[in-house]
Amino acid sequence: MGSKLLEYQKLDIELKKIKKEMNANNSNTSVENLNVLIKDAQNKILELEETSKELLASFEKLMEVQKKGLLYVQKNKDADVDKMSENELKDFEAKMNQTAKQLSELENRMLSHNQEVKKVVAEYKTYRKKILDAKEAKENFKNQSNEKIENNTPGIEEIKNKMFELEKNIEPSKLAKYKSMKQDGIFPVLVPLVDKRCGGCRVELSSSTLDKLKNGGVYECEQCRRLIYSNKD
Ligand SMILES: [Zn+2]
Repeated sequence: MGSKLLEYQKLDIELKKIKKEMNANNSNTSVENLNVLIKDAQNKILELEETSKELLASFEKLMEVQKKGLLYVQKNKDADVDKMSENELKDFEAKMNQTAKQLSELENRMLSHNQEVKKVVAEYKTYRKKILDAKEAKENFKNQSNEKIENNTPGIEEIKNKMFELEKNIEPSKLAKYKSMKQDGIFPVLVPLVDKRCGGCRVELSSSTLDKLKNGGVYECEQCRRLIYSNKD
């Protein structure tokens, strides 16, 4: 009885090994490439966030200069030109013209600034999308590759068939226990007796337990719940 289950577990271990190897060969490089792509896009986004902070700061400066220029115009628009001498008038006109010119230049700079902001926003969106796409591709790849491996590998198929055949000869309650423990991450489920100890957690077994094991069969470890078998039968 124990030996069938042991044979079953050997196949299970072999299956696990093949799956692990295939996963390592197949998906890891692709997933790794996607991870690099995601990391790059995330770094780019951080850079864009810095750039947008700088753009905001420089825009505030431009606004400040514009405000000063407009205030100057406001203050001087009601100036009494009739009372000015010819030189004062020339000077005044020159200053107003200069301010007007500066304001118009400022407007151009604000327009090009605006273009930059639009560019940053567009780039930001592009990189966000890249990240989302890569994450989705990664997820798809993982699901797909697991399925592919299990369906298209003759070795795996063969082992699975053997296991299926063996299942018929294993006591259902033992098989159920095996499966549920494996599900819980306890694997291997069956462990040998090693120097009067559990081969899984190394706890020392009582002499009455050892006697039971000598008569064949398996014994559930009280500490780790693994099924202990004796090699000597
Ligand atoms: Zn144990």
